[in-house]
Amino acid sequence: MSQTTNQKNIQLIRGFKDILPGETELWQKIERTAISLFEDFGFREIRIPIMEKTELFARSIGEDTDIVEKEMYTFADRRGDMLTLRPEATASICRAYIQHKMAAQDPVRKFYTIGPMFRRERPQKGRYRQFYQIDAEIFGVAAPYADIELIFMLRTLFDRLDVTDTTAHINSLGCPACRPRFKAALAQLLSEAAPKLCSDCNRRKERNPLRVLDCKVPGCREAMAGAPSILDYLCADCRAHFATVTDTLSRLGVPFEIDKQLVRGLDYYTRTAFEIQTGALGAQSAVAGGGRYDGLVESLGGPATPAIGFAIGFDRLAEIIAAGAPVTTRPPDLFIAALGETARQQAFEWSVALGVAGIGVSMVYADKSLKAQMKQANRQNAGRVLIVGESELAAGTVVLRDMASKSQQEIPVKGLIDHLVKALC
Ligand code: AMP
Repeated sequence: MSQTTNQKNIQLIRGFKDILPGETELWQKIERTAISLFEDFGFREIRIPIMEKTELFARSIGEDTDIVEKEMYTFADRRGDMLTLRPEATASICRAYIQHKMAAQDPVRKFYTIGPMFRRERPQKGRYRQFYQIDAEIFGVAAPYADIELIFMLRTLFDRLDVTDTTAHINSLGCPACRPRFKAALAQLLSEAAPKLCSDCNRRKERNPLRVLDCKVPGCREAMAGAPSILDYLCADCRAHFATVTDTLSRLGVPFEIDKQLVRGLDYYTRTAFEIQTGALGAQSAVAGGGRYDGLVESLGGPATPAIGFAIGFDRLAEIIAAGAPVTTRPPDLFIAALGETARQQAFEWSVALGVAGIGVSMVYADKSLKAQMKQANRQNAGRVLIVGESELAAGTVVLRDMASKSQQEIPVKGLIDHLVKALC
């Protein structure tokens, strides 16, 4: 279709991005590494829809969070039902756990899922409106071993991907038994600090005072620098839980820092909260985050089920790795240079047979000179080139050229596929 000059090309939506060949190889490598590790640790894949009823996120993430207040892509569908593109995966996994009555067969479940999330944040490097997360969750385990296992698994994944410039930050957010005492202590400071706090924090300090600790606005950070530590207010159970997490991580050689400012942006967390931070990403320092949410399944109408999970920012992880080592695309194992239509037809049939046999083949479908085709083979970094013209076909032999050594050999057309599969595999 022809395009008039005053028509503008359609661009993608602000904050969304394409992940192109050249990048996808790295994404696949990260995905393979994560899946293989998670499966070894007994996690099973769950795939959840990218859209849910708005109420699910409002009830789980919390009405008074940035995500629910201003970042969700929410709309009424044609019948007026309010739907939301998922801003995170945990709520949907809880919904599936409850809906499919998983607790009835075995309450202990380990899940992972990988996919896109949507938040209407202000786009910048490392922050997108459609971004991807690699997510893992453990349901039905109250013991701190689940917390340790997840943090250990994250560490191992980052090691396997050679991502070393990271620190695990850990805190405990207490439980409904001990958190109110901390909130009361915090309230005193918050009322004194009110003039220095941003408008969001002034609004939140009554309804969700912990979130003020998490605010990134410099004035708020300064005002909260002397805030009491929640760790001083933990009940005996929460204290013992946190001590097992930190002691065991130390014994396993997992480095971490206790970070009393870490509260995470979502309402549902209890006890252990953690974040993997890196210096490699500028302002967007969190490459993964997670925590325990012992009350969430029950609050969504399911059986009382302790649970904990994490989400890795896939885009950010890929950016860190790509900055350290540019990815190279896989060259074809074989380039077939065919001259003339009969040879091209034959070459095409060989190329599909070789593709089925697991050999990566490239060829030109148009009528091009041998010189142009050899140039193309070079550009694609092909290791070998098979040269076939009408005269080769008539003689029953083709030429196989090794591009590195420049040596050539003649191969009979009869049994060619078997020969090539043996030579190239
Ligand atoms: P959260 O669900 O907010 O705990 O986020 C978990 C991880 O997802 C973060 O540590 C980030 O690495 C990543 N993440 C969150 N929001 C975005 C975004 N808008 N763009 C890119 N990555 C994000």
